[in-house]
Amino acid sequence: MNKEKGKLIVFSAPSGSGKTTIVHHLLQEKKLNLDFSISATSRSKRGQEIDGKDYHFLSLENFKQHINQDDFVEWEEVYTDNFYGTLKSEVERIWAEGKHAIFDIDVVGGLRVKEKFPEKTLAIFVKAPSLEVMENRLRSRETESEEKIQQRLAKAEKEISYADKFDVVLINDDLETAKKEAEKLVGKFIS
Ligand code: 5GP
Repeated sequence: MNKEKGKLIVFSAPSGSGKTTIVHHLLQEKKLNLDFSISATSRSKRGQEIDGKDYHFLSLENFKQHINQDDFVEWEEVYTDNFYGTLKSEVERIWAEGKHAIFDIDVVGGLRVKEKFPEKTLAIFVKAPSLEVMENRLRSRETESEEKIQQRLAKAEKEISYADKFDVVLINDDLETAKKEAEKLVGKFIS
């Protein structure tokens, strides 16, 4: 596949919507020919994270240098001094391998990717059927403190207000149905 044919598939959603599970499912579908876009970040590595797999971990100085060199498709300071972004070289690497890039990034970053490549991007917003369901899903993970859950829920309400700017809103009521629907949407877009 040449560079002109490579596409970008963006999945964005508030946490607790099931987006990451759907992205993992799509990556296993070999016929879709997808590869995961590894973001760069200036935050430090956590736990078992691996450089070049989970993120490209960069120093703050190096990250800023890449901003000045216009090396990013999009970048954002998500928290003070914690920058996140998609390097142009990452998308080029995936296209050079003859694959389409799939992104699991936040709502603002996702919309920036769409803005940069309007024709080549399919931007999908994944939404839980209700805030109550999202809250239950966050709690059942049992990985986060009450404070974190409340922060994520507050952020979710704001993020949901961006949903109409996406090409498609995928309601994740039943996970198996949502996976099938995502497969169909992506399959149609890349064909
Ligand atoms: P975490 O530090 O928990 O891995 O991620 C924090 C936030 O950064 C999440 O909301 C995640 O979606 C967002 N994020 C991760 N990669 C990127 C990226 O490449 N661009 C943007 N804009 N946000 C990202």
